[in-house]
Amino acid sequence: MMKKAIRNIFMMGLFTAAAYSCGNSSADGEAAWIVDRFDDIKVIRYEVPGFEALPLEEKELIYYLAEAAKCGRDILFDQNFKYNLAIRRTLETVYEHYEGDRTAAEWAALEKYLKKVWFANGIHHHYSNDKFVPEFTESYFRSVVSTIPTERFGSLNELFEEVCAAIFNPSLCRTRLNQRAGDDLVATSCNNYYSGVTQAEAEHFYARMAAADAGNPEPVSYGLNSQLVKCDGKVQERVWKIGGMYSPAIEKIVYWLKKAAAVAKEPQKTNIEALISYYETGDLTEFDRYNIGWVRDTVSNVDFVNGFIEDYGDPLGRKASWEANVNFMDKEACHRTEVISENAQWFEDHSPVAPEYRKEKVKGVSAKVITVAMLGGDCYPATPIGINLPNADWIRKEHGSKSVTIDNITYAYDKAAHGNGFDEEFVLRADDRERMNQYGKLADDLHTDLHECLGHGSGQLAPGVKGGELRSYGSTLEEARADLFALYYLGDAKLVELGLIPSLDVAKAGYAHYIMNGLMTQLARIEPGKNVEESHMRNRKLIAEWCYEHGAADNVIEWVEQDGKRYVVVNDFDKLRTLFGELLHEVQRIKSEGDYEAGKALVERYGVQVDPALHAEVRKRYYALGIEPYGGFVNPEYELVERDGRVVDVRISYPADYTEQMLNYSKNYSFLPNVN
Ligand code: ZN
Repeated sequence: MMKKAIRNIFMMGLFTAAAYSCGNSSADGEAAWIVDRFDDIKVIRYEVPGFEALPLEEKELIYYLAEAAKCGRDILFDQNFKYNLAIRRTLETVYEHYEGDRTAAEWAALEKYLKKVWFANGIHHHYSNDKFVPEFTESYFRSVVSTIPTERFGSLNELFEEVCAAIFNPSLCRTRLNQRAGDDLVATSCNNYYSGVTQAEAEHFYARMAAADAGNPEPVSYGLNSQLVKCDGKVQERVWKIGGMYSPAIEKIVYWLKKAAAVAKEPQKTNIEALISYYETGDLTEFDRYNIGWVRDTVSNVDFVNGFIEDYGDPLGRKASWEANVNFMDKEACHRTEVISENAQWFEDHSPVAPEYRKEKVKGVSAKVITVAMLGGDCYPATPIGINLPNADWIRKEHGSKSVTIDNITYAYDKAAHGNGFDEEFVLRADDRERMNQYGKLADDLHTDLHECLGHGSGQLAPGVKGGELRSYGSTLEEARADLFALYYLGDAKLVELGLIPSLDVAKAGYAHYIMNGLMTQLARIEPGKNVEESHMRNRKLIAEWCYEHGAADNVIEWVEQDGKRYVVVNDFDKLRTLFGELLHEVQRIKSEGDYEAGKALVERYGVQVDPALHAEVRKRYYALGIEPYGGFVNPEYELVERDGRVVDVRISYPADYTEQMLNYSKNYSFLPNVN
């Protein structure tokens, strides 16, 4: 399937932003942008430049959409694990009402744990999916809870034993997403997308649904918006809609969407109404209608995502987590992507893939740069730095897709990474460091643009190939395809000709960084003893390792050891680009032909296995720098200014307290019962 750029660039940006330092930590450097740090996380604030200058009706629209974006937070907590809401609320009650010693080390550990739960929208790490290990004991926790009047906990009292077991029993619900081949992926993943069903039952259920709809050129995304449960021995869906599962939160979302529809102009008004209809009925054809309208709307200045969108959290790649994003166009910054988009056909025609797998006509590539005004659900606090939607293959084919990059978020990442020492530690050669310093941000931006605007939309399937053949290897290979397309063209003189880059030094900066990251530095984010599991990381490792091996005879990429430290250097950028082209050719063939065995072999051979000694070294060097590998954001706040019952303005402010924002959201935007 042609999928899911959104999370890809989210990952990419996280790390590259940390990697590309601008070299000087000035007064407006990292300190002013980072509002909190704990564990492996830094929380950054972002600004919304241009908001004040928007016309009143757009500000008002943003306000309503932003409210809708905040109302689904509980849904994501519950999707991630069925006791997450009870755990969060129990911890928050403790946090707000404990009157004992708040200077004790165990209290600090409890506070850190709560901050991590907020950040991950549950008790499993937002990236690794592993359950957090509390650094306070169960007996400490019970003693703290016992000092707080039981009525403070209300209905949470009934769930206290489940909460304790989930937090403290290391053998329970260890991961929310298990992708280890051979396991029952559904039974061993403790997300809440399935309940009481096995992988075989789930696959059978949806295979039957697909068979009943065989030949439909416009199939809905079966199972996207429901939990699959076994009830009285019968496998069935609990649909997420008004009147269905998660109804109390969805009602609030719809309440605000109706307000938004009332101030929106066409065609956006009709689109918002289609989304409301989908939330009211749970009907996935309504969701498709909404998506088609949404992708065709390239005129509205304010835009948004609100719904069950990405299926990364489901080992079967079917159920989507709830997310939201409200944004408006950054017109001045759009030039770059417009140029790329206008030349989409040229890029497709010159791509190194087999001619029969190129698209004859690339259509519907809309490209823009946006300014985010609000993040919600699975985009908060950790967020993508770009969006490429919708995900349904046939809609992308028939109507195109929308690709956006989010400039105010990358800007904030970049600011927060000033002078963190990463390049000095991992980049051996001074000329590489200089190029990364000078062109790193541009290379990163262009990589993202090419990946999003062209990469995912390129290529076509062979007749008879549906798109789901690569199964659990599909998303890794799809990201590899888009990345390779971007890497290949980043080094093309066409970019200089189009005025997008001053010279191919930009590509050198991008290549050196990509290879170093894929072979080495991204390992910093993997727990000791683990292999690479996340599909975007697998993709980058796959590309880097494949190029290393296939360029070995010419020493294209080299491992260098100096003063007991290992470094990766690229010796031949031109040959590396040729290798990117060759691998793109093969990955496109695999996708186009649905060659599962070849895809599996590629991913398993190059994308998964970690060298333990190298892994340990990278982690040691990385963590010695004191850089948190993950970042997320606090949102701005908006307030309606009314006079004589009429809205006359919307005021924006920038809170800088992570804990306060989380408690505020839990208090004012929490609508679901403890267990759903
Ligand atoms: Zn992608």
